Amino acid sequence: MSEFPYRKTGVVSLEELARLNLLPPEERLRKGPVAILECPEMIPCNICVPYCPTKAIKMERLIDVPAVDWDKCIGCGICVAVCPGLAAFVVDTSKNDFDYVTVPHEFIPVPRVGDEVVLLNKLGERIGRGTVVRIWERNKTYVATVRVPKGLSMEVRAIWVKQ
Ligand code: SF4
Ligand code: SF4
Repeated sequence: MSEFPYRKTGVVSLEELARLNLLPPEERLRKGPVAILECPEMIPCNICVPYCPTKAIKMERLIDVPAVDWDKCIGCGICVAVCPGLAAFVVDTSKNDFDYVTVPHEFIPVPRVGDEVVLLNKLGERIGRGTVVRIWERNKTYVATVRVPKGLSMEVRAIWVKQ
């Protein structure tokens, strides 16, 4: 079996992201919203780098894996909007009652603020319900921030808007 099972399954686990140093440390997660780029392969893409307003994303070469300087990241979500692989997310685990997660959304219907939506993990499985608290759009990619039950922000990677 490959050292990293996602290379066969196509689904990268949290444990694998941690082993690859692609998850923010707990201390940073407690401070507020922060980006997670689930982009572990050396692919010729660096679009998130120039769009980051705080220059928090670093890549030496076009095919490098993007590295986030967690202390520079302000959780703005612009990388979520511009990533063509829909691999960028923002999580906020700093609040007591709920977590928040920001995900790209390229399906119809587009949710509205206040909508209750179904929360999906990266396998497309339903794992709960959340409420949309922010929605904005860039080049036809919508970016939705969703209030989710405490503990789910590291699992939720898409939403389903029931019609
Ligand atoms: S959330 Fe904003 S500040 Fe953080 S890495 Fe993405 S674009 Fe940069
Ligand atoms: S834009 Fe997305 S796919 Fe491209 S390097 Fe950044 S995180 Fe990876």
